[in-house]
Amino acid sequence: MQLNKTLCDIVIFGGQGDLSFRKLMPALYHLSNDGHLDPLSRIITVARFDMSHEEHIALIYEKLTEFLKPDQFDEVKFATFMQQLHVVTVSFEDQSSYQGLKKLLDLHPQRERLNYLSTAPDFFTVISKTLSILGLVTPQSRVVLEKPIGRDLHSARLINSEVLKYFEEKQIYRIDHYLGKDTVQNIMALRFSNRIFMPLWDANNIEHVQITVAESVGVEGRWGYYDQYGAMRDMIQNHLMQLLCLVAMEPPYSLHADSVRDEKVKVLRSLRPMSAADIERKTVRAQYAQGSIDGQPVPGYREGDGMQHSNTETFAALRVDIDNWRWNGVPFYLRSGKRMRQRNSEIVIQFKSVPHSIFLNQGNSISENKLVISLQPKESIQLKLMNKVPGLSDQMRLQQVDLELNSRIDSTRKPDAYERLLLDVIRSNPTLFMRLDEVEAAWKWADVILAGWADNVTPMKSYQAGTDGPTASIQLVVQDGASWNDE
Ligand code: NAP
Repeated sequence: MQLNKTLCDIVIFGGQGDLSFRKLMPALYHLSNDGHLDPLSRIITVARFDMSHEEHIALIYEKLTEFLKPDQFDEVKFATFMQQLHVVTVSFEDQSSYQGLKKLLDLHPQRERLNYLSTAPDFFTVISKTLSILGLVTPQSRVVLEKPIGRDLHSARLINSEVLKYFEEKQIYRIDHYLGKDTVQNIMALRFSNRIFMPLWDANNIEHVQITVAESVGVEGRWGYYDQYGAMRDMIQNHLMQLLCLVAMEPPYSLHADSVRDEKVKVLRSLRPMSAADIERKTVRAQYAQGSIDGQPVPGYREGDGMQHSNTETFAALRVDIDNWRWNGVPFYLRSGKRMRQRNSEIVIQFKSVPHSIFLNQGNSISENKLVISLQPKESIQLKLMNKVPGLSDQMRLQQVDLELNSRIDSTRKPDAYERLLLDVIRSNPTLFMRLDEVEAAWKWADVILAGWADNVTPMKSYQAGTDGPTASIQLVVQDGASWNDE
């Protein structure tokens, strides 16, 4: 197949940070090896401190061997990849320090130019502004903003309005890496290319929807960041909201970026705002206490350095209602937490039970159909169906079986979400990125809950590390007659 290779300059601000080493460099390595990048494209790492070209290459070599699987790293391929690597020193807030970067970029002023701001959001404005002052923002430039975009509606608006002074909206790519996952994109394929789901995808047939993003890891050294954000701002407002949008949105009229994003933003605007009573009844926030994971003891969140008095939630669960014709009365249960029993991200579409069972007097109970879309640790899709137990028994015995799509989708190496997303930025395709109005609509809805929590409308609960969260989270769904899909 003839690949459409793009010649571009990719500048990574925060290029020596965790995200860059763990995700961006491995993704670029794959894109380069797989022939998606023109070999003359340059990957320019912005480092805070001086580093020679040789030291930089050695560092990238070390990090790639650390973060790629052994069978994915190849010395010969690295020798080619390293031809594309450059390093410059910049201190974000010091305009004079951008000269090395300017010199390098000015060598090819017409090139497609991708500025990846893999930095805290506090730096988005100063970097954008300095690039603009130095004439480094061209019509071919785009800027990628890492999440979180702010910590509430006010700060998100501020960031967006500042960056918009230097880049047009169509040049801004607000990343939510969940949208780059193959299985997440598959939600659209599943919904909009299979007629069987079309008549079933509504309040007449769906009992409820569950979206879980559970991590067994803790804060992993990012205390300073995490304690300012917590589960609601770090996960629910962005990743889980985006997943909810893909499940709940109306069919877009095409795959055009604005067509898809228009439908997502309609969902966000249809979320029922929560009253104080709703916040109390429909939200749970909790912090993990000491426990054990995989047999290893794990300290509690407040045992972290300086966290003794922290009131940041490491777990959140919510019942979300969508006020539109399709979803009237269908609860969407969202939950996300750290230090949970297992790493598990999934979407469960729970269908209603059959209107009448003809099998009851045969001693069978009929379990409702479920569509389970697993995102982590394995990407898979299962449809749970009732089926006859084979055999000659005079009674018709039934069992629930899984119809699996896994074998179909497992055969090739699945590109990491960041590969998909970086390639989309290079190709100027913003479909999988959040538009300004999406980010703001999600914050507007989340801010009400965060304000309620700040007023202690929902008291902070505790859960033991290594469990599925606090009992209040179980109660949240049980009070509606549902249960989490925990096995
Ligand atoms: P990080 O490890 O702290 O990296 C930030 C980088 O920026 C560091 O290399 C740091 O240099 C550099 N830097 C900070 N201030 C600077 C300055 N004034 N001038 C020049 N360089 C400066 O953070 P990260 O984990 O990579 O995260 C980056 C962004 O991605 C954050 O917004 C984060 O929320 C988001 N994100 C991260 C992940 C992840 O898995 N890590 C996932 C999703 C989103 P020093 O090393 O010298 O301090």
